[in-house]
This record gives sequence, C-alpha cells and structure tokens, in this order.
Amino acid sequence: MTLPIPDTEAITAAVNTAHQAMLQVDGGKNADYIPYLASVPSGLAALAVVTREGTVVEAGDSRFAFAIESISKVATLALIMETIGRDALREKVGSDPTGLPFNSVMALELAQGKPMSPLVNAGAIATASLVEGATADARWDKILDMQSRLAGRPLSLSDEVNQSEQTTNFHNRAIAWLLYSAGTCYSDPMEALDIYTRQCSTLLDTVDLATMGATFANGGVNPKTGERVVSKDNVPPILAEMMMEGLYTFSGDFAYIVGLPGKSGVGGGMLAVAPGKLAIAAFAPPLDEAGNSVRALAGISAVAKSLNLDLFSA
Ligand code: GLU
Repeated sequence: MTLPIPDTEAITAAVNTAHQAMLQVDGGKNADYIPYLASVPSGLAALAVVTREGTVVEAGDSRFAFAIESISKVATLALIMETIGRDALREKVGSDPTGLPFNSVMALELAQGKPMSPLVNAGAIATASLVEGATADARWDKILDMQSRLAGRPLSLSDEVNQSEQTTNFHNRAIAWLLYSAGTCYSDPMEALDIYTRQCSTLLDTVDLATMGATFANGGVNPKTGERVVSKDNVPPILAEMMMEGLYTFSGDFAYIVGLPGKSGVGGGMLAVAPGKLAIAAFAPPLDEAGNSVRALAGISAVAKSLNLDLFSA
C-alpha cells in the first residue's frame, strides 16, 4: 500500500512554524559526561524533513554536524539484522524495553545478563560484538558503511569526539565486562566496546539524520541514492524497537504524545519515522533528565501534529 505524502507546502509550513516554536522553548542542559558534548554551542537548533521520495525541507542550523551518539544504535541494529536475521538477534540481544536508563547496570542484572534491547548501551555493545570481521578496524568499517548508506553520503569518525569518549567510558567498560561474564558479549568485550564507542562518535547533520529515517520510511531504500540498504522485512522490527526503546525512559511518553517510532542521542539529535511517508529529524544540544533534547522533542512533536502523522490515529 502506498501512503499519501503531505504536500511540500504543508511540510514547509509545518517545519518553519515548528522551528520557531523550538526557539521559544528553554531548559535542559548539554550532556557533560562526555567532555566534547559539553562544548557544543547550546543555542543551535535545527529541524528537517525528508520524504520517502527524497524531498528535503529544512530550517535553522540544519547543516551543523553533531555527534550521532545513541542514534548509531539503529544503524548497527540494522546491520546485524541484515547479517544474522531478526530471530537470531532477538534471541541473542532481546527486543523488549528495559524501563530503565540507557546505561543501566541494574537492567542487565535483572535480566540475568540479557541486554533486552539493542537500543540501550548493553544491547548496543552486544550488537556491536556480533559484527563480523578479522580485526576491530574491519568490523568498524562495516558499521560506518551502514551509517553512510543510511545517510546517503560517506560519514566519518570525529577523532575529537572519539577521543573524548574512549578516555571517559568507564561505565560502559563495566557493562561490556558484565555482558562477557554472562555470555552475552560475542567478541572480545573491549573490542566490542571500542567499535561501539567509535559508532557513537561519527558526525552528521540534521538532513543526514532525516535521510537515514527516510530510508526506513521508504521500506529500506534510501530515497537519495536509490540503494536498498535494509531489506523490506527488517524495517518493521527495527521501527518497533525504536517505538519501544528509542527515547530512553520517555519512550512510552513519546509513543503517547507523538505516536511515531523515534530515536534520540545525547548529542542532541532526535529522529522520528512516519512509515511510508517521511522522517523528521531535529537537533539542539540541551537535554532533559531522561537524556532527550528538549527543543528537538518540541520541534518533532509540532511537525508530527501539524501533518497528522500519529500512527495510532485513524
Ligand atoms: N556514547 C554514549 C554512551 O555510550 C551514547 C549514549 C546516548 O546517546 O544515549 O554513553
């Protein structure tokens, strides 16, 4: 079934109005447990929509490159689902929300070392441990390639972000070793952590992020390059996972308020996908208590509302 896409004038009006609304929202604070993120100018604000046909509508600082952070988990999830299949991934990593913060050790303990979701840190490290390759660099190349094919252009690692994370990721090191002791890390744990940390450290802009989302909205074919990046059958479980665990402990609220699968990152990026239609991406560094960008949430909610994108509304 081909769904109608809102017309470009309606999208443009929605994006411009929502971007203005974003600028009126205050509050939140840049993440600072990764030193680089604390240094990004807090006043940046961007919004973009890319449709399944590749139409791009953007406003604000939409070409400012920011750290992908947790949104990278969606790309690695897609890579492993394509490699080992959805059933094996579900068995090894899981497919349920934890209901706990993204870096919770308690969640792992409560589930006897099963990470539950590929979109929390434990599950993302376990998913990264499933990437095949003879060396860490060979495995990393596959992750970067998947991120790039989803974005429709070559993305690259920021040495500055990576350095900032690799030298401060003590909590994630503990998670990787806990996974290993439970038998749910499928490679050397420090190598899995290394490539997971690199995957969080690539830079992309808000249009790149919306293009990633539009690839899912378009059933796995990137509308910019025309390449099939993800098989059609793997798109629904990826979006289901985003709906359940994409916005940290606010995921249920996001489903309630916006009604779309989404994913955010502590770099201030946020993505929402309207299947069969389009994707909305936003960026603004200050985060709320749950780790979601305050302004990005406002911008995405406003666009989804004005274009009637809630999946649960008939
Ligand atoms: N690199 C970050 C971490 O592992 C990503 C977290 C996020 O964006 O949720 O803590």
